Amino acid sequence: MAELFYDDDADLSIIQGRKVAVIGYGSQGHAHALSLRDSGVDVRVGLHEGSKSKAKAEEQGLRVVSPSEAAAEADVIMILVPDPIQAKVYEEHIASNLNDGDALFFGHGLNIRFDFIKPPAGVDVCMVAPKGPGHLVRRQYEEGRGVPCIAAVEQDATGNAFALALSYAKGIGGTRAGVIKTTFTEETETDLFGEQVVLCGGTSALVKAGFETLVEAGYQPEIAYFECLHELKLIVDLMYEGGLEKMRWSISETAEWGDYVTGPRIITDATKAEMKKVLAEIQDGTFARTWMDEYHGGLKKYNEYKQQDADHLLETTGKELRKLMSWVDEEA
Ligand code: NDP
Ligand code: MG
Ligand code: MG
Repeated sequence: MAELFYDDDADLSIIQGRKVAVIGYGSQGHAHALSLRDSGVDVRVGLHEGSKSKAKAEEQGLRVVSPSEAAAEADVIMILVPDPIQAKVYEEHIASNLNDGDALFFGHGLNIRFDFIKPPAGVDVCMVAPKGPGHLVRRQYEEGRGVPCIAAVEQDATGNAFALALSYAKGIGGTRAGVIKTTFTEETETDLFGEQVVLCGGTSALVKAGFETLVEAGYQPEIAYFECLHELKLIVDLMYEGGLEKMRWSISETAEWGDYVTGPRIITDATKAEMKKVLAEIQDGTFARTWMDEYHGGLKKYNEYKQQDADHLLETTGKELRKLMSWVDEEA
């Protein structure tokens, strides 16, 4: 059974007694910096020369310094720049500013799990990863709620690293919803697997293939869009609220019967065998290496894929239809 931690299990005074640097002010960075500040923590934000978010951070009352200065001042350093540049930012600005007893924090384990960053033995290495996008992390905190987090310790130099991680999680509202203890390995591998196989990759491919099948058979793209993409949200909301059972309670018996007999014809043993291959490539570092090469090679294929999907009939059809539904927020 997973170990869960709530507000009463975490001591906010630990993080309130430290100096925190949040490096990066994007989706997660802004949420962590603002919520820690509102929780009474001494925070500074580290941003690179020419940063687009600097003005916003300052407007919101935060002190912004360079990543090196932030790392030098602080004894807890949270790295929240994009994963592919973390190793460079670490080498250039953070490594030389780490002292024994400091703590290096991450919001995702990739760079530690695959050894792109190798911290010295004297520092605590922790992760606090909210299981939701940064803007929701901040909004929930302001509403007195929280996004569940997972927390891990890779290196416990001080003997107090996990208590520090829990304290940090409390500072961003995580312990209000619950914090699950994990490891860098488990977080990194399951996160990559989930986003590739189910949440992003699997779902996008399923939606596109279903849409294409209907359109190629001569049905109207607008109808296919509603069937294969729009309605997905309604189905997933029901699953989120009450599992497969609640979804099946709400749909018609006809839909439920089709669910049982057709689902396994779409996601077959061959699909599951491929999932196992994907997992193996995540575990042995093949995926991480390929992605770093793609990123540092100028994102050529990445941009090709992006453009291909932007031009897809599914997307152009959806764009038009959503204009007529003012309540569907394009910005959300
Ligand atoms: P974003 O892409 O939203 O944030 C990028 C930030 O990093 C921006 O403020 C950007 O500056 C800054 N930045 C870019 N280059 C540099 C640099 N050289 N030096 C200093 N700062 C730089 O990142 P995310 O918040 O999406 O991701 C951060 C971490 O959180 C990752 O490890 C990710 O895996 C993890 N995570 C993200 C989630 C999410 O909700 N997105 C969910 C859970 C974990 P600017 O734009 O100002 O120029
Ligand atoms: Mg991820
Ligand atoms: Mg239907």
